[in-house]
Amino acid sequence: MTTSTLVAKDVLGIYRPGSSHMVGDGFPVRNLFPSNELDQAVDPFLLLDYAGPQKFEPTDHPRGVGEHPHRGFETVTMMYQGSVAHRDSSGNAGVIGPGDVQWMTAASGVVHEELHEADWAKKGGTFQAIQLWVNLPRYKKMSAPRYQTILKAQIPTIEIAGGAGRLRVIAGACQGYKGPARTVTPIELYDLELVAGGCAEVLLPDGHTAALFVMRGLVSANGSNDAGEAELIVCERGGSSVVIEAREGSLLLILSGQPIREPIARYGPFVMNTKIELVQALEDYKAGKMGHLS
Ligand code: MN
Repeated sequence: MTTSTLVAKDVLGIYRPGSSHMVGDGFPVRNLFPSNELDQAVDPFLLLDYAGPQKFEPTDHPRGVGEHPHRGFETVTMMYQGSVAHRDSSGNAGVIGPGDVQWMTAASGVVHEELHEADWAKKGGTFQAIQLWVNLPRYKKMSAPRYQTILKAQIPTIEIAGGAGRLRVIAGACQGYKGPARTVTPIELYDLELVAGGCAEVLLPDGHTAALFVMRGLVSANGSNDAGEAELIVCERGGSSVVIEAREGSLLLILSGQPIREPIARYGPFVMNTKIELVQALEDYKAGKMGHLS
């Protein structure tokens, strides 16, 4: 007979948004990192922007961010309310709505636009989304771009025992359910909805970065202080279990992944390993090597 004991990932800290700003004219975001200088504690993740929830009036001119480049990482957009249309210089395009996810691997470089979807913009409404930047290891930063639209219907949902809530597996595997996202390095990305008083134990690989972002409600993780709306709980990498208790009905994003542990050089929309590579990225963009929107 063997006895297995799950070791809890200790909580490193709870963080509030470090800055608030508009991205283009359509994404009123609160940034959790890099503004909180979490750096290696959140490796392989580079940026977490929480957009909204905010109401937009009807318009015939969809708001958002016009043509801009990325190189060296992935942008992952999770929609909760509203709708976003994307178009890039690799010829990919897609629309995501509530419950859908867009996983864009910029890698060697794309130019894209991210706008409120035109029909949604005409009606107006409440917009709520998360954009997460996922780093790529050095050997994949200059690989070909890739684009995945992941629809709500493709995302497995696990009902939590006792009617405590439900967990959606976007990337990685949980209790035998595999998320549809193809990732470059091992990533676990789940969202979790818990009823008031609900509790869930989520297993994440020992050695993987782990953090919980609260979109709604009030939760504690492994006995931590309570974290509320727009707060981020960051855990230590050691251990494999996070017990989440909801004081109120709550919605959160669970992000976890194998750290890449390489030097990070960043400048706006480019994230490379060295300053020289950043200069090259800017030159390549200006020279049109990342393409243009047709
Ligand atoms: Mn972008």
